Amino acid sequence: MNEMILKFPARSENEIFARNAVAAFALPLNPSLSELSDVKTAVSEAVTNCIVHGYRGRDGWITVHCRSEGGRLDVEVVDEGRGIHDLERALQPFFTTLPGEERSGMGFTIMQTFMTDFSVESEEGSGTKVRMSKDFGQKAERNAG
Ligand code: ATP
Ligand code: MG
Repeated sequence: MNEMILKFPARSENEIFARNAVAAFALPLNPSLSELSDVKTAVSEAVTNCIVHGYRGRDGWITVHCRSEGGRLDVEVVDEGRGIHDLERALQPFFTTLPGEERSGMGFTIMQTFMTDFSVESEEGSGTKVRMSKDFGQKAERNAG
């Protein structure tokens, strides 16, 4: 078991920092390049959501908590921002509360597709927690078959 916690301000430059830090943490689990890229994309979407939706450009903290055990990586991305009014709707592909800007409503769908497990907890006014896990070595085996 290994573990790390990162806490950083909700600024867009920290999205690159967060996804690379999580990738570096995951390296000892021997992920394939494509597995690592899946994790980076998912973390990037989750962190971007905290900045864009959770805090809407205001100051705030984002916490990324990672655990690894066996061939599995668990990642939690947490903000203490606005929270999500209708979570069921928010999880649907193409649903966005910021249409007209460069949002397509695909972030949660991407996280769900690229990770092995995915769930969201959110409360309006108090924040959002995204939980994601990735089992390494799964897809490679399937592709090889
Ligand atoms: P895209 O990710 O494609 O740029 P998007 O961010 O709108 O567009 P999702 O990432 O799927 O799409 O999120 C769907 C909706 O869920 C958002 O439009 C927003 O309303 C809400 N949401 C997501 N994450 C958060 C968050 N951390 N805090 C508050 N609301 C959120
Ligand atoms: Mg998004």
